[in-house]
Amino acid sequence: MKIRIIDAGNHEESLLYFLKERVEEIFKKNCYFSREEVKIDFAFVKERNQYLADILFKFLKISNPDGEKVVFLIEKDLFTPGYNFIFGKAELGGKFSIVSTARLFTEKKDVYYERCSKEVNHELGHNFGLLHCDNENCVMFFSNTLSDTDRKSYKLCERCVKKYERL
Ligand SMILES: [Zn+2]
Ligand SMILES: [Zn+2]
Repeated sequence: MKIRIIDAGNHEESLLYFLKERVEEIFKKNCYFSREEVKIDFAFVKERNQYLADILFKFLKISNPDGEKVVFLIEKDLFTPGYNFIFGKAELGGKFSIVSTARLFTEKKDVYYERCSKEVNHELGHNFGLLHCDNENCVMFFSNTLSDTDRKSYKLCERCVKKYERL
């Protein structure tokens, strides 16, 4: 099974390569990316000036019916009901995840790339059925803030690796 990153946010190609390599390192599966001009205006919620993740999932299901796991990468600010914003969202044990780089950006490129990689690996972990982990260094730790993201690693902790291998 392959993992596909769909870049709908016109991100740098070097970032996409970086994400691909990090995904392959952690999940031991092939990953590739494509860049697509997908207009996501249909998910825009004017009152909040944000994009609704839940509508994007419906769109992904219709447009990507085959078996691979898909990470949909956007640069717009994302939310889901009950949260002011989210860095990303995934179907637990499912095929699709969405990651927004809107709040991850910083002029420090290495920090920005690290953050993106952690969020992508986190959401993919959910796709593979992993739940949140209470180890604050584990990529499956829930990031409430950017400092949570900066603190944790892009890797699964030992316990999550074992769980992943059993899935
Ligand atoms: Zn999560
Ligand atoms: Zn863990």
